Amino acid sequence: MTVQYKMNFNDDNLLRQRLQSAQFMFLAEYKLPAKDDNVSRVFEEVNGICEYSAENQEIAAISLTDKLSSELSLDPLELSPKITSRSGKPPIIHVSGKGHDVDSVRERLASLSSEGINNILAVSGHLDDSYDRYCDSVEIIKQAKLLEKNFFIGAAVNPYKYRVNDSYGQYFKMIAKIKAGADFIVTQTGWDMKKLHELILFTKMRDIHIPLIARLSLISEEDGQNFSNLGIDPGVSVSREFASLIQREMASGSQFMATQLKRLCLQIVGCSLMGYSGVQICGLRTAYELQTVMETAKKMMGDFRTVREWSDEWNAFHHGIEMVGSAYNFYMFRNLLSFKGKSDSEDNFQLAEAAFEEVSLSDQLKYKIASVLSIETKKGFGGRVLRRILSGDSDEAILDLSKTQYVSLNKCPKKLVYGPCSGSQLNGDCENGELSCVHNERISLAALNNELDNLEDPDV
Ligand code: SF4
Repeated sequence: MTVQYKMNFNDDNLLRQRLQSAQFMFLAEYKLPAKDDNVSRVFEEVNGICEYSAENQEIAAISLTDKLSSELSLDPLELSPKITSRSGKPPIIHVSGKGHDVDSVRERLASLSSEGINNILAVSGHLDDSYDRYCDSVEIIKQAKLLEKNFFIGAAVNPYKYRVNDSYGQYFKMIAKIKAGADFIVTQTGWDMKKLHELILFTKMRDIHIPLIARLSLISEEDGQNFSNLGIDPGVSVSREFASLIQREMASGSQFMATQLKRLCLQIVGCSLMGYSGVQICGLRTAYELQTVMETAKKMMGDFRTVREWSDEWNAFHHGIEMVGSAYNFYMFRNLLSFKGKSDSEDNFQLAEAAFEEVSLSDQLKYKIASVLSIETKKGFGGRVLRRILSGDSDEAILDLSKTQYVSLNKCPKKLVYGPCSGSQLNGDCENGELSCVHNERISLAALNNELDNLEDPDV
């Protein structure tokens, strides 16, 4: 599949222009707090970030999260006019599927457009007890395209997956997002640079030409507890060795932040050398923090002439520890980050063997019977019984079962239809920890029945 990035030279969208210029760029992400947080402090922080961004050519846009703190998070629309006027940079508004169905997401997109917002980042949203419905990010992208507004659309991918099904599932869905109309891709936050290298190689292998932006974060002292639990954001895990390293760095007291700054800036340099279009820096609250990161990163960019020099320093900085444990450690390519020359040699990074999770004989049989009986067409009591036995759920399917490998997507707590969210756990279980991710079941059945191409189709 070839996905070409369409050039538009009559465009006044600064973000699109920057991405087309092929100059490495920075996005500053501000996490919007709950409405009852200290609003004057929030305005002060945002003003500071805007004023610094106005002076800094490398910062292309300011990214605002949506419903990340809670259902009571400040609406990014409340801050976007301030950002535009104070920084001269376009905001990127995250559009979370939390709490939305197709109609309400269309209304939200229309109101963003009427407020002059062109840049959005579509995300399905993390599982949250406050919400009982989620709009799939692929649907958000499709609706943004249908509105025929001038949206420049970002989509998310989580490369930090360590089982074959989870890893390929993320990339299949990323392709569905691109086919639906995504213009650029933003990764989840993580620290495993081999996975960021993997994503670059995957897009080359699939002939995908679309800007890739790595979302990176400065590790704070408050993150310490999450590291000791080996989980950071939902769907991103780290190894015990990496967590221990962070704990030891925390014990070093005054050196801690300097060490984290170096780690973040090394990541930024690595992304720039590996071919990312830019980075989205999150976890920063003040203009001073942003300035410190920008200045350190820019200086460090001059210190490394080749990707090999950079990878040697990255490995030495981490004392060669692995970023993921031994139980689940799948990487799609061999020798990731082992650069032999100035750049990557294609031969050095060949596809690793990948075996999708096996499908039990009883599940294979259920698939075959469901397919022969065309249970998707069966109505009434008989249909419910057949669905219960063969697809695991008697309710009416939210999507034609013949298109979902006869796995009921009702079992997904977010009812996502176009593929997995980013939140599955390290062992492939759902973000809610109560069952395995239904999309992982689908992927195994699709692999067995030569239907993997269907998982990249946004028009199922
Ligand atoms: S079943 Fe999979 S896609 Fe659905 S919420 Fe759980 S992890 Fe996400």
